[in-house]
Amino acid sequence: MSPAGRPATPAPVTAFIGLGSNLEDPEAQLRAALLELAELPDTRLIARSPFYRSAPVGPPGQPDYINAVAALDTRLQPQELLAGLQAIEQAHGRRRAGLRWGPRTLDLDLLLHGDQALSTPALTLPHPRLTERAFVLRPLADIAPGLVLPDGTTVETHLRRCPQGGLVRLET
Ligand code: ADP
Ligand code: MG
Repeated sequence: MSPAGRPATPAPVTAFIGLGSNLEDPEAQLRAALLELAELPDTRLIARSPFYRSAPVGPPGQPDYINAVAALDTRLQPQELLAGLQAIEQAHGRRRAGLRWGPRTLDLDLLLHGDQALSTPALTLPHPRLTERAFVLRPLADIAPGLVLPDGTTVETHLRRCPQGGLVRLET
């Protein structure tokens, strides 16, 4: 508690967000989402990766995805930040009724929140599929080269171990 009796403001931590879209002008969805991430309370957008095009994971016949990663400095707790991400997804018309890993206007995943490890029904940190997906690891390495994940391994080492298939860097 601070002398005034309020809880002390937590120190900011760096959080990484994975962005993905494969419906309704995906590049525009991601550009808008980056602006909205920058508007979250107690949060600053500090970096964003190039955009990448990737072949879809999940049900066949979907359009390709556009993916990127953003870095935030935030004082929000992980659950508060996840709620903010889900509100942005909803504002982009995301519907959760469909197939797992089916097409979506916007997917925002909380990849890392400082060095926190968490496993609750609503939130797992680091994101459980972070180290399996080149379309997340490649843009993460672009903006955080040499980043050591909570398992003690660098992002580049995970990237080398991961199938690279069909990832194309765009000019944006
Ligand atoms: P996916 O991103 O795997 O395609 P969804 O975006 O539909 O799937 O997310 C499914 C659920 O995953 C969400 O309701 C959320 O509560 C949960 N979840 C657990 N950990 C995380 C995380 N680190 N980031 C985002 N969502 C998470
Ligand atoms: Mg998600």
